[in-house]
Amino acid sequence: MPSLSDIGTVKDIMQRHGFSFSKGLGQNFLVNPSVCPRMAEMGGADETAGVLEIGPGIGVLTAELARRARKVVAIELDDRLIPVLGETLAEFSNVTVIHGDALQLDLAAIIREYFADCDHVAVCANLPYYITSPIIMALLESRLPVTSVTVMVQKEAADRICAPVGSRESGALTVAIHYYSKPRMLFRVSAGSFMPPPKVNSAVIRMDILHEPAYDVGDEKTFFRMIRAGFSQRRKTLANSLTSGGFLTREQAAQALSDAGIAPNSRIEALDMERLAMLSRIICQITC
Ligand code: SAM
Repeated sequence: MPSLSDIGTVKDIMQRHGFSFSKGLGQNFLVNPSVCPRMAEMGGADETAGVLEIGPGIGVLTAELARRARKVVAIELDDRLIPVLGETLAEFSNVTVIHGDALQLDLAAIIREYFADCDHVAVCANLPYYITSPIIMALLESRLPVTSVTVMVQKEAADRICAPVGSRESGALTVAIHYYSKPRMLFRVSAGSFMPPPKVNSAVIRMDILHEPAYDVGDEKTFFRMIRAGFSQRRKTLANSLTSGGFLTREQAAQALSDAGIAPNSRIEALDMERLAMLSRIICQITC
């Protein structure tokens, strides 16, 4: 099979299969030959690994994963791509393509079924950008038995995810990701590396999963309600934002901030992970 990052090859495959890109499904295929080998290597695809890929497209990253990993399972939503993948990945006996929606499938069951003989499992994907946050959160919240999640996302999303908690760039997603994992920026990818080129630049990030949370937040549900309330009105003072959506009463918010030694006019974006965890524990004591 000629290189799947070659534009002529992509055009030929598309023509023979009568395939055209769907913007709605976030279809921008990688045609820069250096990106997929780097992603596969930095994304934990080694001979002991099972790799779960979301959105293989025509299989350009899948092929690089299959060359390195013990097994690859690739989940693709677009039924038009299933016969294409049957052709482009025919030479690999260690790849299974599943037709389905990665947000709906039981990923834990897939991991159990396909990767029982692998020493570890990694997720590696060039994500469809319209579902970046829900996919990442579904992967992290469900506490899948995976060691790392390496994904290509929009550059702005990568910056926000990797920003330190407590910095101006951080948001609710930053906090959630730092709670479940250790994220880091791997490398940037220009819009011209894709066909068709998206309007934005991209970056590859890797999240190493923390199997024990690094912070004691008291109660996770309270912690995430606090984060949602705080960041839903991030420019407001904590005394105000903690009351949004009926999370706390004015009195409870004032007491929690006072017990935590946090000035009522502070903003949530200024608190680092330690202080957010402490505030969550105190709110638990007041409300749970
Ligand atoms: N991996 C390929 C590449 O790098 O060239 C394609 C990446 S493209 C950005 C995203 C892929 O995700 C597309 O093939 C699209 O059809 C697929 N996709 C979109 N939504 C999906 C979903 N909910 N579940 C699984 N795949 C999805």
